[in-house]
Amino acid sequence: MTISQDLFTRAQTSIPGGVNSPVRAFNGVGGTPLFITKAEGPYTFDADNNKYIDYVGSWGPMILGHNHPQIKQAVLEAVENGLSYGAPTETEILMAEKVKELVPSIEKVRMVSSGTEATMSAIRLARGYTGRDKILKFEGCYHGHADSLLVKAGSGALTMGVPNSPGIPADFAKHTLTVSFNNLDEVKAIFEQYKDEIACIIVEPVAGNMNCIPPVPGFLEGLREVCNNHGSVLIFDEVMTGFRVALGGAQQYYNITPDLTCLGKVIGGGMPVGAFGGKQEIMDYIAPVGPVYQAGTLSGNPIAMAAGLKALELLSEEGLHQQLEAKSKALCDGFQQAADEAGIALTTNYAGGMFGFFFTDANSVNSFAQATECDLERFKRFFHLMLEEGVYLAPSAFEAGFVSTMHTQQDIENTIAAAKSAFAKL
Ligand code: PLP
Repeated sequence: MTISQDLFTRAQTSIPGGVNSPVRAFNGVGGTPLFITKAEGPYTFDADNNKYIDYVGSWGPMILGHNHPQIKQAVLEAVENGLSYGAPTETEILMAEKVKELVPSIEKVRMVSSGTEATMSAIRLARGYTGRDKILKFEGCYHGHADSLLVKAGSGALTMGVPNSPGIPADFAKHTLTVSFNNLDEVKAIFEQYKDEIACIIVEPVAGNMNCIPPVPGFLEGLREVCNNHGSVLIFDEVMTGFRVALGGAQQYYNITPDLTCLGKVIGGGMPVGAFGGKQEIMDYIAPVGPVYQAGTLSGNPIAMAAGLKALELLSEEGLHQQLEAKSKALCDGFQQAADEAGIALTTNYAGGMFGFFFTDANSVNSFAQATECDLERFKRFFHLMLEEGVYLAPSAFEAGFVSTMHTQQDIENTIAAAKSAFAKL
């Protein structure tokens, strides 16, 4: 028995499923989750002393690699002054100013402690601002686990929301409308049906929770237009894409201006941070200026702000995001070539520092339906073969992969070589 297996058995007696967030349990791939003891640069180390090239990056935050010396230093310096005050600090102003500088659509920003809080609060704000109850989201997009957002379409595309977790009253979920990602016709049809009842559209501008699916040309532009025509708020959930796809997020990459933006992951540099911001006119509906309530004991926590601010400063280096995208492309091209040579049907997608690969005959994957039709059994086998080769991919076929500034050319080449030998055994 490995140490990880032993720890997992023990964890299950006191933690539901042995984990504090479900995907970590390896349910999507089978087997035992690795218990991590440390991480450095592009590598993680498990309790059995195995070293892995890591493409999970704590599910996105570690864009500068693990344990970055300058972020660590910023945290250590902040710790000297106490862990939390529950009162304003200058670092919060610096953080807000930095976010505004990097994401110009954000005129005012409120810090929270997770991506879930960011999206939940943005939805409440959009509802309060418009005086409307309904929201529109896309099948396969994940926006955290707030009640309104844990809903996907039932059978048929233009369906009323059905909760996909027990514990969410149907009466509540019915306000969440769900249509297909990358399908503007469905969006227009549902707006035709509900006219001016829809408070907002919330979208992952590059979907990263059904593998990696970039928007097709015209999709995000179309959402902007529909929202303009109907007085609805356009919310970009950039919890994953923010500061990753480009320094200014997917909105910069695709040149679309949302009304509100949700941030998380990278913005905390590895600490628990989220944020939502946007047009001043909308943001001023938030308490204490406006009537929409939103609060948090640890919001703007000084240690978290120090880590996040340092991360954003380091990310502002000229050319950094082009280099990240070059790594995503090199990985995708390398996987594709190796798969072609091995006669394995594969398709890849990438945008900036995120990538995905699908075991499918299709030439491109643009929708949730296509993503779910891929060969999931083949992915499971591939995942475990890669693990044996020392490469740690997300333990699910429905997650994007992440590169960091610390992945070297050699790491990428080693990963492609690992994929080659894995494909040969599939
Ligand atoms: N939005 C997106 C696009 C995400 O990918 C996630 C988490 O993976 C969330 C929101 C929720 O963020 P958190 O897990 O920090 O609550």
